[in-house]
Amino acid sequence: SQIIDDEHIFHSRYPPVQVPDDVTLPEFVLGGFELYAEKVAIVDAVTGKELTHGEVAKNTRRFGAALRSLGLRKGHVVIVVLPNVAEYAIVALGIMSAGGVFSGSNPQALAVEIAKQVKDADAKLIVTNALNYEKVKGLGIPVITMDEEPVEGAINWRKLLEAGDRAGTNKAAKEEVLQTDLCALPFSSGTTGVSKGVMLSHKNLVANLCSTLFAVKPEMVGEVTVLGLMPFFHIYGITGICFATLRNKGKVVVMGRYDVRTYIHALISHEVTFAPIVPPIISDMVHNPIVDEFDLSRLKLQAVMSAAAPLAPPLLQAFEAKFPTIHVQEAYGLTEHSCITLTHGDLENYSRAKKNSVGFILPNLEVKFIDPDTGLSLPKNTPGEICVRSQCVMQGYYKNKEETERAIDKENWLHTGDIGYIDDDGDIFIVDRIKEMIKYKEAILLTHPSVEDAAVFPMPDEEAGEIPAACVVLGPDTEETEEEIIKFVASNVANYKKVRAVYFVESIPKSPSGKIMRRLLRDERVKASNLR
Ligand code: AMP
Repeated sequence: SQIIDDEHIFHSRYPPVQVPDDVTLPEFVLGGFELYAEKVAIVDAVTGKELTHGEVAKNTRRFGAALRSLGLRKGHVVIVVLPNVAEYAIVALGIMSAGGVFSGSNPQALAVEIAKQVKDADAKLIVTNALNYEKVKGLGIPVITMDEEPVEGAINWRKLLEAGDRAGTNKAAKEEVLQTDLCALPFSSGTTGVSKGVMLSHKNLVANLCSTLFAVKPEMVGEVTVLGLMPFFHIYGITGICFATLRNKGKVVVMGRYDVRTYIHALISHEVTFAPIVPPIISDMVHNPIVDEFDLSRLKLQAVMSAAAPLAPPLLQAFEAKFPTIHVQEAYGLTEHSCITLTHGDLENYSRAKKNSVGFILPNLEVKFIDPDTGLSLPKNTPGEICVRSQCVMQGYYKNKEETERAIDKENWLHTGDIGYIDDDGDIFIVDRIKEMIKYKEAILLTHPSVEDAAVFPMPDEEAGEIPAACVVLGPDTEETEEEIIKFVASNVANYKKVRAVYFVESIPKSPSGKIMRRLLRDERVKASNLR
């Protein structure tokens, strides 16, 4: 039975913002482009290739029409397996404007992982490039490749656009796309280990952009240059960077691959003013000696955003000491809430923002903190599971009623699986992560013949914020080393999912109800590593 308890609900300190209810996401993002048609919207940091706002709007329309002529219909899922390329936003917006559902995939994923996403999403089409074609060609659905050179067996995107032009206007207009329709299906591990499709509607994303961009003043429209380094297959890259910047008629500097030299060079040469990044890149800016080979006085950066993982307090301090004129804007968000949820978005109020707080509640959102055991809402300054209610909350996990019901309760609260608290001034702090995305890695560890028991937990790490670490109980007469266990997990999952540290232990601490006591494991390991 659901506990109804609305005692401690927190609202944004900012007044509500209007969310237009009659536009699709592409209409909202591209809206008003005419005034900026000649202005550069997207530039590739490495090749220098540019696309204007006019070209983005025009090619979105052309791609949408071409997809319709290929047979794409409302609700059809299209998997996009691409690194960050200049045309990425056009691909995503084109799919959506045709009534389709954009589902990004990590281009570094293994063929089996992409095949699973295609199957789980009932995808009808794949968009990729020559480099990734081999991984997706045998899946029985048409493949579009984005390269200039045609790839045998695939549909070439240029030729498709031309065919779309011949087919005429976007027939999707006839089959009306509604704001309540789905437009995106990113795959995320969410609060439990298995990857699930997060159903997001046009309305979800429009509402998220309205809340996120609440502090943008008219004079800032067309003025901001944003680094497009975070992966566009992830909600942070596509919504927080591409869609937000296109909506504001700014410029995205697209980077397909991280390399510290290319990165600093791109920041300087493209006069980037805002860089949404993650803690490991902040760490590189502080510690990597290559950074100091550049004339950093030429940086035009006004702010970096740190999101997706905790920013370690010593790292924040070191960054501020080295770059005193660059603001650090922390942000907290999750795919299930369409992207950013908490941030100190109001630049003028940065000075009021507390260090290591992830932010204030964005406009239009309600937030509460509940006791994970009782479900009761907690007063301020008391850590509990962060729950959020707004128009940005996903429609559910695709074909997964059970997980959906676990994530969204009967009063429409999204349970984030993160532990945090709000203080007297409305600043929110994240203190822990109860998510069990780690269960997946545990399941893999337990398939190893020498492993008797295993627990995976987030280990604090100065560079990455936290890294996945494992405590492993080995069976008798086994000789595996830590490295061998790390390798074993790595051989079963894509690179970014592996465990980065393994500790051998006698037993895994469990609560009376059998739950692994991850917090305790982590605290013990932290203590042990400090003693060393
Ligand atoms: P995803 O759905 O992949 O964006 O992952 C969302 C999760 O990332 C959240 O539920 C948090 O656990 C974590 N996260 C995002 N932003 C932050 C942050 N600023 N600090 C700590 N954890 C974060």
